[in-house]
Amino acid sequence: MRCPKCASNDDKVIETRISKEGDTIRRRRQCLQCGFRFTTYESIIPADIYVVKRDGRREDFKQEKLRDGIRMACWKRNISQEQIENIVRDISTQLMSLPQSEVESHYIGELVMRALRNIDEVAYVRFASVYRHFKDVEAFINEINKMPAKETEPEGEEKPSAQGEATAEDAKPEESRP
Ligand SMILES: [Zn+2]
Repeated sequence: MRCPKCASNDDKVIETRISKEGDTIRRRRQCLQCGFRFTTYESIIPADIYVVKRDGRREDFKQEKLRDGIRMACWKRNISQEQIENIVRDISTQLMSLPQSEVESHYIGELVMRALRNIDEVAYVRFASVYRHFKDVEAFINEINKMPAKETEPEGEEKPSAQGEATAEDAKPEESRP
C-alpha cells in the first residue's frame, strides 16, 4: 500500500481486525520509510458494478475511490474512520441493491453529499462545492492530489444553494445503454 505521507510502497501490517459482521477487514499499517501509520479496509463487493462517467466511459466501481473522495471532504473534521467506513458501506449497499449493474457517476456523488449532509456541514459543503466543478469524483481526487502535500484546505468557500440540492443537470437521470 502506498503511504499517504511519503508515497513509499513499503509498509508492515501492525494490526488486523475483522468487523462484527465479518464482512470488512481493517488493517492498521505502518510505513517502513517514514513511520507514518494509516488504515486500510478490505470488503467484499458481491456483484460487479460499473460506473458510467459523464463522458460515457464505464469502469468498475471501486470502493477505494469512493473512500478517498469522502476522506478528502472530511479532512481535519471530527469524523472518525468508522463513520467514513459506514458511509462507504451504506453507499456500496445501495448501489448493489439497484436493479441495474450500471450507475451514473453523478448519482454516486449525490449519495455522498446526502450522507455527508447528515454528519458534518463543513464536509458536505466542501464536497458539494468542489465536486460540482468536476466531472466526477475521480477528477476531483486527481485535482486534490496535484496540490502540494502541505496542509492546505481544499479550495472553495462557496455555500451550497439555499436548498442544498443538486443542479437540474446533475439530478437529471440518464438512461443507461446496453
Ligand atoms: Zn511513508
